[in-house]
Amino acid sequence: MKNQTSSSSNATLSAYEEAVNKLGLKKNLANALNIPDRELTVEVPFRRDNGEIDSLIGYRVQHNNSRGPFKGGIRYHHHVDINEVRSLASLMTWKTSLLDIPYGGGKGGVCFDPTNYSKTEIERISRKFFRAIDPIIGSNQDIPAPDVNTNSQVMSWFMDEYSEINGYTPSIVTGKPLELGGSEGREAATGRGTAIITREAAKSWDIDITKSNVIIQGFGNVGSYAAKFLNEYGCKIIGVSDVNGAIFDNGGIDIVSLLAYQENSKTIKGFGNYDLITNDELLTKKCDFLIPAALGSAINSGNVDKVNCKVIIEAANGPVTGNAAINLWKRKIPIIPDILTNAGGVTVSYFEWVQNLQQFKWTESEVNMKLESKMVEAYKCVYNMKVSKNTPMRIAAFMVAIDRVSNAYKLRVG
Ligand code: NAD
Repeated sequence: MKNQTSSSSNATLSAYEEAVNKLGLKKNLANALNIPDRELTVEVPFRRDNGEIDSLIGYRVQHNNSRGPFKGGIRYHHHVDINEVRSLASLMTWKTSLLDIPYGGGKGGVCFDPTNYSKTEIERISRKFFRAIDPIIGSNQDIPAPDVNTNSQVMSWFMDEYSEINGYTPSIVTGKPLELGGSEGREAATGRGTAIITREAAKSWDIDITKSNVIIQGFGNVGSYAAKFLNEYGCKIIGVSDVNGAIFDNGGIDIVSLLAYQENSKTIKGFGNYDLITNDELLTKKCDFLIPAALGSAINSGNVDKVNCKVIIEAANGPVTGNAAINLWKRKIPIIPDILTNAGGVTVSYFEWVQNLQQFKWTESEVNMKLESKMVEAYKCVYNMKVSKNTPMRIAAFMVAIDRVSNAYKLRVG
């Protein structure tokens, strides 16, 4: 996990550097945009269920708010450290800019392994952490969201803790349950966005989506919803995997039945009469679209030579390392970048915030319609930049995003 995160952040950094060079940004400005606005490290003291006092370290990094309040998730993981949080915060600045939503980028985390703690302990940790970062958050200042190992229950505790101090404020976090002001369509949003981007990429690379073959690595929130919507578009999903292994069938997998199976069993293991292959093998099977939707650095120097697809759709964060990307570009295999592909989640988080601020609720079809239009618009901007500057999609995405942030930054700095 640690190495995966650092390889993905290296890939981000090299894409950033290439993009600022292509944009012709002055060195001082490029450096300034890379420096976080504020970094807060906090102690999170709490009592364990047995009465003992324990203490954890938490972080909130606010990277850039030139285009709007800081926005980004909070993760609970024993590998969380300031470098990881810093790198993820900057990625949020570029992602929100690319989708043209009025936010900056932030990220936070607490360094601990939640599997070693009870639910009541995690509640106490969450409330203490939120109290500790309270001075720098606010619905017009910094709006956290769920990330690895945090969910709508954790967001409910955050919202409650903040509201105890500041009065009822549902707009302080997104990713809340529907009962507390969460948005319709949020759960499926990242997978839906991934499917929309795949469909748009099919048009650009002249692939008939209704006749295309798709392989998806990871069948969690993102992978399973992407499979559902791509199946509805008429794609043939020929291979999927989860942490327990992969299934493959050139004739296509019955996705509707697999989704029902996974709902009960929480894994794809044991489903149907399909070929069982390893997760590594799955990534090397011939297909039109290869969609890594599980881990960072899934496609790396070790396996990239065997990748045999027409287009890679980066649904996970940082699934293709910088070196692997160079190899793929040489082979003319396009990579549709993560900051575009998986931005459906933060886009509907933004819709949730807008609904909370207006004290108004949109229907699921309104949310989906607005998501569709945001994703298609962002895709067009990236593709146009790719064509006009003759650059890979990953670099084009950073160029679009950095250009918007730098323009706002220049207008604001005194
Ligand atoms: P998840 O925990 O719901 O699902 C992860 C899936 O990957 C599971 O099916 C798991 O079994 C599988 N997996 C784990 N190791 C694997 C391996 N070695 N081989 C194959 N499959 C493996 O997570 P998620 O929310 O679906 O997120 C997936 C990725 O998308 C992550 O990189 C995440 O950071 C990124 N992402 C998620 C969202 C979101 O809204 N959920 C938004 C942006 C980015």
